[in-house]
Amino acid sequence: MDCCNILETLTNQSLLVKEYKYWNLYLRSRTKTLGTSALVTKQHYNTMSEIPQEAITELSQITKELETVFNKLFKPDKYNYQMNMMKENHTHFNIFPRYSSPREYLNITWTDNGWPALVGDNLEINQEVLIALTEEIKKEISHLE
Ligand SMILES: [Zn+2]
Repeated sequence: MDCCNILETLTNQSLLVKEYKYWNLYLRSRTKTLGTSALVTKQHYNTMSEIPQEAITELSQITKELETVFNKLFKPDKYNYQMNMMKENHTHFNIFPRYSSPREYLNITWTDNGWPALVGDNLEINQEVLIALTEEIKKEISHLE
């Protein structure tokens, strides 16, 4: 994706969970809750209305996969899908699994600082942990197929 700086600001290639036909699913490098993800269109569009119908159809499949896997691994209480594009003018969703209580995962206590309102401050999670988390999610998604 060399259309703009979307990947640099949101994530990086080592956090790629799955490549779909129209979207790439990444963990975000700035994490607010356990499993904070970025679902990015593979082509550059400026607004949601520019996204082709086929990609919207695929979105339904992706959210089913993501929620199936995250429900198994992390048991979120809710999901927030945000398409804001305030800083990055490239269509993407920020996906925040939401938790009413802390979760223990990869020997870390993950809190949802904003619950039950909007997501709160970023968590201090290092890159190695996010890569390990990416691998855990990839493994579970591959079991779906
Ligand atoms: Zn772009």
